Amino acid sequence: MKTLVIGLDGEDNYFWNIGDIGLQLDYYGELETFYSTFPSFLCSLTGKRYAQRMQGDFSSHRVVGHKMLWDYLGDIRQTYINIPATYPAEEVNGSFICGWKAKSLDSNSVRPISLIPKLEKLGYNFGKDLFESPAAEGRWDDFLNEGIKQIHMRTKAIKYLAKKDKPELLFAVYTTTDECLHQRIETRLGKNRIRTMNEILSEDLSSIIDEIQPETTIFFSDHSINDMGYHGPDHEETKWGTWGLITDLEHIPPRDKAHILDIFPTILASLDVNIPAVEGSSLIYSESDKKIFTDRLRRLGYLS
Ligand SMILES: [Zn+2]
Repeated sequence: MKTLVIGLDGEDNYFWNIGDIGLQLDYYGELETFYSTFPSFLCSLTGKRYAQRMQGDFSSHRVVGHKMLWDYLGDIRQTYINIPATYPAEEVNGSFICGWKAKSLDSNSVRPISLIPKLEKLGYNFGKDLFESPAAEGRWDDFLNEGIKQIHMRTKAIKYLAKKDKPELLFAVYTTTDECLHQRIETRLGKNRIRTMNEILSEDLSSIIDEIQPETTIFFSDHSINDMGYHGPDHEETKWGTWGLITDLEHIPPRDKAHILDIFPTILASLDVNIPAVEGSSLIYSESDKKIFTDRLRRLGYLS
């Protein structure tokens, strides 16, 4: 696989600081975002800016006239799992499982539909409601256990589809992180349970990378969450999420701080696909960039 993209809903730079997590990043830093999930994930799929118009404005991703990532990739094998702001499912050369608005495994949320019985066997579900009663009843251990189950279920789906689709690009999002971080205050999930959730997610991510060996892995989040469990334009500090890279491609310096607008061109560069005119810029040089530089240096006599 060329590129694995992992969305970490609601995480910030602290995610990388949890001790021996097995994930060895080549580069990472703070990511400026649009404070909330819908505009940020949509931006990662188009390279454009979006505003969240109202609370709960999580309708279809089909913004008229906006070309989406898969429209740029043609026949490249590609797999999408649980990206918020994608509904209904798209026909791509690979698999597409929606995030948000998807409630059950049906033809609106899964393509191709032949995948549905296989996902049922895996125990795949969309999960959001599963957190509601433990939260309402204050059963925080149950809440955490539900979250961990969701993380493992998503991990299973990633590994299964990586093997089945053999995609060049696999783009998957973990949303349990957001569910848990919203409840981070001590009277609810609290620090220790959040730490456990992050450790388990890190272990799962390491095991995915070990198993599927992508050439480049791009991690990013869509916003962070403050100590009280909130995010959005009313909470300025939550504009900063995180990004990380594991890649042999060269990083374009000096970029510890990046913008969510940079994620889309970075994905295209990692796949060696031409980047259209967008506001953001890639965090890495593509293989063809590298070839152009080397040829130029050779012509100028700096390389033999
Ligand atoms: Zn949230």
